[in-house]
Amino acid sequence: MYVQLPFDELKVDPTQKKRIAYFYDADIGNYAYGAGHPMKPHRIRMAHSLIMNYGLYKKMEIYRAKPATKQEMCQFHTDEYIDFISRVSPDNLELFAKEQIKFNVGDDCPVFDGLFEYCGISGGGSMEGAARLNRGKCDIAINYAGGLHHAKKSEASGFCYLNDIVLGIIELLRYHPRVLYIDIDVHHGDGVEEAFYTTDRVMSCSFHKYGEFFPGTGELRDIGVGKGKYHSVNVPLRDGIDDATYKSIFEPLITKIVEWYQPSAIVLQCGGDSLSGDRLGCFNLSMSGHANCINFVKSFNIPMMVLGGGGYTMRNVARTWAFESGLLNNVVLPSELPYNEYYEYYAPDYKLDVRPSNMYNSNSPEFLDKILTNIISNLENTKHAPSVQMNVVPNDAEELGDVEEDTKEAMDTKGGSELARDAQIQPDNEFYEEDDKDKGEKNIDETTNGTSKLTDEEMNEIEKLNSE
Ligand SMILES: [Zn+2]
Repeated sequence: MYVQLPFDELKVDPTQKKRIAYFYDADIGNYAYGAGHPMKPHRIRMAHSLIMNYGLYKKMEIYRAKPATKQEMCQFHTDEYIDFISRVSPDNLELFAKEQIKFNVGDDCPVFDGLFEYCGISGGGSMEGAARLNRGKCDIAINYAGGLHHAKKSEASGFCYLNDIVLGIIELLRYHPRVLYIDIDVHHGDGVEEAFYTTDRVMSCSFHKYGEFFPGTGELRDIGVGKGKYHSVNVPLRDGIDDATYKSIFEPLITKIVEWYQPSAIVLQCGGDSLSGDRLGCFNLSMSGHANCINFVKSFNIPMMVLGGGGYTMRNVARTWAFESGLLNNVVLPSELPYNEYYEYYAPDYKLDVRPSNMYNSNSPEFLDKILTNIISNLENTKHAPSVQMNVVPNDAEELGDVEEDTKEAMDTKGGSELARDAQIQPDNEFYEEDDKDKGEKNIDETTNGTSKLTDEEMNEIEKLNSE
């Protein structure tokens, strides 16, 4: 079943114009996990600087999202966990000895100055991006401060505290019957998979290094439970995967999944630690090999949210996310880097490229054939029976009716309504801030079968699967 495809030069179709909403908060680069910590929010600022200096601001709408509120964060996370995140600081850390252990903050996930605000920015961008997609105000939403896929319902994990992806997907589920989540970070997208493990309204598909590698989950046989059976797909890969090999497994698999599941929205986590030369990763993707995934998913013309994620060699993450932003805007950016505030990081070549190395590719065609055959036969032998009928998804805000409908929407949803969220880019609008409060909790149960609905039995089953 596995056929090695040639890796061709990336192409864009300038006639396929997309409306893009790009979310960026200039504060993001000021947060620091601490000296020596590999996760550096500064890379988001570097990527942004390239994006601006390449002139992409002329092609897309740029927003600073309102930070996610505690109430919004608690649509997925527990109150006591978010309360802890909002109160703890390096200065009062000794008061929270017990909580530090309970919520897994410490070495990998340190408490740093402004932690809660950092989470707010990440979550706000993904929630607002989802809200704009919901109301047809854009075709693609981008939030490189998001993509923090390891965060759990009441626990920090793998440099992630707030799961902005789960929050964004919950928002999408208000309007979209089926959401496909695709994760190309080198690590397993465990937090997102777990949140939707028992529902068929979200299909999660993660490509990652598996075997003696964080977080240790994401086996081929982990496919979801209950209604969610066959709605989790795991592609466990070995070291050194290259562009052509990745493409040859990614493209047929995503094609099959889109055909089978018919998602009405796609969330793509673009972790840059799957690039060659990453400080923590072990794959061998060039910038083009990574970007091919984004370009391929875009070609389905399904409303799409593009998020960041891991990525620990900053200059390469910045290069790749800038290049991918270009592709999303139907531009292949020229390889000569424009002058920018961080120009010296790109020495010695000052080029927009991440080249592969000569490392050995441990993924044999036989191994990949086994994976592909297993996943595709699982899907082919199962008739997809969606729990929510396919609705006509509004693509055009104008078709949604009059202002009254908007107002009603703003009243009975939380922050998710387009009207409410639009207002947030206008600084002086207090009405919606007030209106936002206390409105969300009840909606969540109506719209998702997410983690909040996991029974103890299901939870045990998942834990068992994961610990085997
Ligand atoms: Zn990662």
